[in-house]
Amino acid sequence: MARDYYGVLGVSREATDAEIKKAYRQLAMQSHPDRNPGDKDAEERFKEANEAYAVLSDPDRRAHFDRFGTAGPGAGPGFGDAGFGSLFEDIFENFFSGAPRGRRSRAVQGEDLQYELKLALEEAAAGIDTKIQIPRLEACEACGGGGVEAGSRLETCGLCHGRGEVRRSHGFLTVAQPCPKCQGSGQLNTHPCAQCRGEGRRRAERLLAVKIPPGVEDGMQLRLSGEGSGGLRGGPPGDLYVLLRIREHDLFVRDGADLHCDVPVSFPQLALGAELVVPVLNGTTTLRIPAGSQPHAILRLRGKGMPRLRQRGHGDACYRLVLEVPHTLNEPQREALAAFESAGRSARGPLTAAFLERMKKLLG
Ligand SMILES: [Zn+2]
Ligand SMILES: [Zn+2]
Repeated sequence: MARDYYGVLGVSREATDAEIKKAYRQLAMQSHPDRNPGDKDAEERFKEANEAYAVLSDPDRRAHFDRFGTAGPGAGPGFGDAGFGSLFEDIFENFFSGAPRGRRSRAVQGEDLQYELKLALEEAAAGIDTKIQIPRLEACEACGGGGVEAGSRLETCGLCHGRGEVRRSHGFLTVAQPCPKCQGSGQLNTHPCAQCRGEGRRRAERLLAVKIPPGVEDGMQLRLSGEGSGGLRGGPPGDLYVLLRIREHDLFVRDGADLHCDVPVSFPQLALGAELVVPVLNGTTTLRIPAGSQPHAILRLRGKGMPRLRQRGHGDACYRLVLEVPHTLNEPQREALAAFESAGRSARGPLTAAFLERMKKLLG
């Protein structure tokens, strides 16, 4: 049943691996369908050479052939998933241009996934343990991700002989196209897995525990290794990236570990000093405004900001004093303010003094 593979390649039974490879390469180059379009005999020689090399280049299968004179397990017309495609590529990588072949026969890592997780600023400050539900493709357990029914294997495509592409003539041009029968894979799945319909993966929803450390910032990503899509044909799964989005806070704007808050104040509060109730994360505190504070001054409460990610300590809470002038005054207010103004025109601050000085110079 089996051919004399040594005879096919024209080497002795004692031939070394290098001699076998060299003989095969020569024969395959001569009989390659690219060089012999339409030549059925060349195509047959090419197939024989491939088969012979697949056996003799594999120490186990060569030993089997030497002992029993048959190709042994994994041989035959449609030998092995890994057999033809990868073999072909190894040998011809440097000889023929064009798209890489037999690609589909390789294990492929699953895609990375991204999940957007929205957090309140308070949650980002405290850190949270939460659960997220991830829809993803997982490797099919029934077929181990190969997409082939148990006990079956992929077969080499008869149309392209595992090359994954066919040559078509357009006038005097010959163009390589993906094989229409196997969609360029070089292999046919004649017994697709019933569980995954040959896809090798199945849809699944997973509930994953996620631990968010205190101090994370908007736009940061957490990587959950191996929690992405399942791989194809035994490839490893991809990773899951959890993109953190921190919702805008009603009162605070964040700058690193510092929090900023605008606090409206009145002129008397700035001038006389005051104690104000201001927000902090998860509560309120009292902010003391010193007498004579200027509008837009920023008062800091040390350590009342966000925790520093993976470091000790907290940033500050910063309060900007925004002077709000009343749009209307009642009568007592009007009188009080008029009395204030007439009580001490000269007793203004350094800004007024400098301005008056410069005006004086300008006017000579
Ligand atoms: Zn094909
Ligand atoms: Zn399956």
